[in-house]
Amino acid sequence: MTKINGQTRIVGVIGDPVQHSRSPQMHNAAILERKLDYVYVPFHVRSGELQEAIEGFKALNVLGVNVTIPHKQTVMSILDDVSHEATLIGAANTLIFCDGRVSGDNTDAQGFLRAMTEEGIDIPVGGSAVVLGAGGAARAVVVALALSGLDLITIANRTEWKAIQFEKDLATISETEISAVDLASNQLNLAIRSADLLVNTTSVGMQETDQLLIDPDFLNPGTIVYEIVYTPPETPLLRVAREKGCQTIGGIGMLVHQGAIAFEKWIGIVPNVETMRIALKQALYQKKL
Ligand code: NAP
Repeated sequence: MTKINGQTRIVGVIGDPVQHSRSPQMHNAAILERKLDYVYVPFHVRSGELQEAIEGFKALNVLGVNVTIPHKQTVMSILDDVSHEATLIGAANTLIFCDGRVSGDNTDAQGFLRAMTEEGIDIPVGGSAVVLGAGGAARAVVVALALSGLDLITIANRTEWKAIQFEKDLATISETEISAVDLASNQLNLAIRSADLLVNTTSVGMQETDQLLIDPDFLNPGTIVYEIVYTPPETPLLRVAREKGCQTIGGIGMLVHQGAIAFEKWIGIVPNVETMRIALKQALYQKKL
């Protein structure tokens, strides 16, 4: 436990609800390991009180906060400065307070890519990816992939108009072609069959009984399957992909790395990601360890 004193600096996370967040365990473990004079605190901030909370953080000399549901998009309109990546994604997950100003960044896209790199997986430059989902996390994933040199990203979402909106919004951010298809269409099957990478960004898979969103008959052993859901550690999609012989990657790495990047932005020190991963796994899967 951090020994709080008159010089301890505060970082944290805002959300509604926020009690479920495991970021305090992850960040405080890294703070403790490096013997830093910081503490990471969860703040329950309701939707109507976001502006007041931001002003309060400025007044209280808070160093920075992560932002989680439901504030990631709405916070954008009250920021003084916004990074290029947060602008493209349309959401901020990391705020930095400095000299009475608040700037917003988004570390999800970089976290997604770093987790691949640490598994020794290269982005299939010139290849194709299929992204399932068109929610907040999907947007960070599609931006990350579109800026990484893929030729084609196919997006499939239950509510198709949201995928079509992605196609429109992100069409010009790079040379990558972005194409929206129906989740139940044969176009999706064909895209999966030839994909180098398949990413699930929907919340489907959080329940062990969740039905697969794809037809596994179209899944190729050469396709890398990336699941951003992190609980359970092996979702039905990951299990099927593993059984097919696909290289797989789970969501915990992205969660650790988006946090590690935020930590570095606030504190200016690279945290030990292994310490963060162990703390996060203990907090998430306690009963199973
Ligand atoms: P979100 O904005 O609410 O989006 C949810 C997505 O899931 C939408 O595309 C939604 O489709 C789809 N979906 C939900 N239920 C479905 C169902 N029964 N059938 C088909 N599609 C369904 O949520 P989010 O913030 O993007 O988060 C999505 C998941 O990613 C969550 O499990 C979250 O924990 C995880 N996540 C992981 C990380 C990480 O670091 N690993 C980071 C962020 C999020 P509709 O548009 O049709 O509703």
